Amino acid sequence: LFLTFEGIDGSGKSTQARMLAEHLQARGHEVVLTREPGGSPGAEEIRRLVLEGDPDRWSAETEILLFTAARRDHLERTIAPALAAGKVVICDRFADSTRMYQGLSRGDLRALVDQLHALMIGREPDLTLLIDMDPDVGLSRARGRQGREERFEDFGPALQHRMRQGFLSLAEEFADRFRIVDGTRDIDSVAGDVAALVSGALQQ
Ligand code: C5P
Repeated sequence: LFLTFEGIDGSGKSTQARMLAEHLQARGHEVVLTREPGGSPGAEEIRRLVLEGDPDRWSAETEILLFTAARRDHLERTIAPALAAGKVVICDRFADSTRMYQGLSRGDLRALVDQLHALMIGREPDLTLLIDMDPDVGLSRARGRQGREERFEDFGPALQHRMRQGFLSLAEEFADRFRIVDGTRDIDSVAGDVAALVSGALQQ
């Protein structure tokens, strides 16, 4: 089973991904917890190229190529082998983040993202949990964290609001695999909702 978490910065999706991994491991599942950009040695190197340093280093198009290259490596080296071995893969962000961030933030490049995805990735998660939250809440949570390469935090509130709406539209577009979870409640309530949705998916 291939599960992904999506949401704006500070939505708590990384915490939820970790809690879900522990929850499933405690129930005897073999779990691989991974993240994007990154998740394999090569993709982590690309992550540094994209997230560190001058934000204008790459054109929008080159950035999409780099994210797609990172995802291809992650899929080949980490995700596909784990799924083939019958493990549950939990990924903190996947292609939906690229549809949003690279597809929307520097012009409308969604078509290019989708074309490269079809060519080089061609795989969607079985279930995507969108941790939905008002960006003003998410942003203040994200700012409270230390030592992270928050290059994209400078996106600012207006873009974060667009991203939230974008993720909600994406959830309609891919309604078969998306489930929306209200991320503003306390961590354990959110985790409870997530666990219930995933146990439904595991029984199918
Ligand atoms: O999920 P995480 O917080 O680790 O992401 C690191 C940063 O990279 C975030 O600020 C996020 O907005 C940005 N990002 C991006 N495009 C992606 C994935 C992440 O701009 N496809």
